[in-house]
Amino acid sequence: MNSQHIEHVVVVGGGTAGWIAAAAMDRLLGEAVRVTLIESEAIGTVGVGEATIPQIRRLNGVLGLDENDFVRATRGTFKLGIEFNNWGHIGERYLHTFGDAGINLASLHFHQYWLRSQAEGSSAGLWDYSLHQKAAYANKFGRLDRVGNTSMTGLAYAFHFDAGLYAQYLRRRAEAGGVSRIEGKVVDVSLESENGHIASVTLESGAQIAGDLFIDCSGFRALLIGGALGVEYEDWSHWLPCNRAVAVGCDSSQPLIPYTKATAHEAGWQWRIPLQHRTGNGHVFCDAFTGEDQAVETLLAHLDGPPAGDPKPLRFTTGRRKKFWHKNCVSLGLASGFLEPLESTSIHLIQSNVSRLIELFPSKAFDPATEDEYNRQVSHEYDLIRDFLILHYHRTDREDSEFWRYCKNMDVPDSLKAKMDLFESGGRLYKDPEDLFRESSWVQVMVGQGLKPKGYHAMANRISSEQLSGFLGDVQRLIERATDELPDHQDFIDAHCKADLQ
Ligand SMILES: Cc1cc2nc3c(=O)[nH]c(=O)nc-3n(C[C@H](O)[C@H](O)[C@H](O)COP(=O)(O)OP(=O)(O)OC[C@H]3O[C@@H](n4cnc5c(N)ncnc54)[C@H](O)[C@@H]3O)c2cc1C
Repeated sequence: MNSQHIEHVVVVGGGTAGWIAAAAMDRLLGEAVRVTLIESEAIGTVGVGEATIPQIRRLNGVLGLDENDFVRATRGTFKLGIEFNNWGHIGERYLHTFGDAGINLASLHFHQYWLRSQAEGSSAGLWDYSLHQKAAYANKFGRLDRVGNTSMTGLAYAFHFDAGLYAQYLRRRAEAGGVSRIEGKVVDVSLESENGHIASVTLESGAQIAGDLFIDCSGFRALLIGGALGVEYEDWSHWLPCNRAVAVGCDSSQPLIPYTKATAHEAGWQWRIPLQHRTGNGHVFCDAFTGEDQAVETLLAHLDGPPAGDPKPLRFTTGRRKKFWHKNCVSLGLASGFLEPLESTSIHLIQSNVSRLIELFPSKAFDPATEDEYNRQVSHEYDLIRDFLILHYHRTDREDSEFWRYCKNMDVPDSLKAKMDLFESGGRLYKDPEDLFRESSWVQVMVGQGLKPKGYHAMANRISSEQLSGFLGDVQRLIERATDELPDHQDFIDAHCKADLQ
């Protein structure tokens, strides 16, 4: 073997990030690369992170997971989108679904035809043409790739799951594949004197673990990237001010809905995530605008049932590392940055960065060009997601609390301002090729938050008014028929992936 090839990867941390990294590297890099994971049960994991986006299905494919087995083992449910309550306006709600509304026609986005219909006096909302919304609000779910023999895509979906069970599930698979796990607390990090690379980590027991490449998955502590290598953190709190959360489970309630709920409160918002055995809840808030006692009170006042224990407090600073890869260390998960959980993007960022790392896998020479390219790509992905999250807070009519007045009036990145202006002028969007969120997501959130385009694209006029209403009616009929044929979400789970809850 070429002596320049990396032979030993050391992963520090066994939360979701650590086990995704270990399992994926073990599976994709094969026996040529040894993977060791160090974790400390005494320190534990963050233990939240229960909602995902459809890209996770790609990770499942890479890891060779059987989807039903995975849902069963993590007591999971299916997710078609996120319902935002009280965000743009108190009393209003919209569903950011994982699918497109309607069908694109003659290479023009469907929403342009919808905008024209609005201009011609139609009262039908964008979501009246959404299969995902119809299915979600009827509590239906099924694996549907395409609607009949039409060009309408079927259901894009993700999962809700128990974060602790997910890490255990990945651990079992990674260990079975050959990953070595070491239990212990890292107390010191030794650097090479000539180049400042990490040589080894020392455990409380005195054992020293050397490696060629170190993956920092130590969570908010960022032991290697921040602690040992001193890479700074870029703070985005001025744009995304929420910095704390209190989380608690409660009994699961019926019906089992196939979507997450995100309900805005006075100084933040509350998630509701349906699992097979319980409902996960958390109130994300900004401590400059409300205190923890008040946040807990608000959380408990909005549960479906009695809380299962005391709410767990969490603190975070939204932002990211100035470099994600530095010398022979790559940070993943909370060690690399934090974007609040509003659009369930954290687990996706772990997965996409592991796949980038594998694609740009270095040699022992650690060529700076590789590190630079990795950092460029990850920074760009973070920035695009950041803008999408800010949109939810900034484009609001709410002025009922100091928090919402701050969000509404704050300066936003120029990149987001340009997107909002472009959409407002005529419903147009520019999709950055590296943006995780598709046009359809931007449209749904912009419209849902109350951003109204002043016009629509001239191409929407290529059909007559009669043709337009015929087309829109056909779309609605297709959706209704497809929804009728879908199974109930609970029945689907009972039939395919019911967890053993004994
Ligand atoms: C309030 C909140 C809600 C969230 N909701 C979602 C969501 O819905 N969807 C989503 O995708 N993501 C969500 N996330 C993010 C998600 O929780 C994390 O991205 C994910 O859990 C990854 O965490 P991690 O593995 O990086 O860190 P952690 O879970 O903190 O794991 C860190 C690991 O490092 C180990 N460690 C630390 N120090 C040492 C040491 N000295 N020696 C040895 N081991 C050490 C710990 O033992 C642990 O194993 C949420 C996060 C928060 C805070």
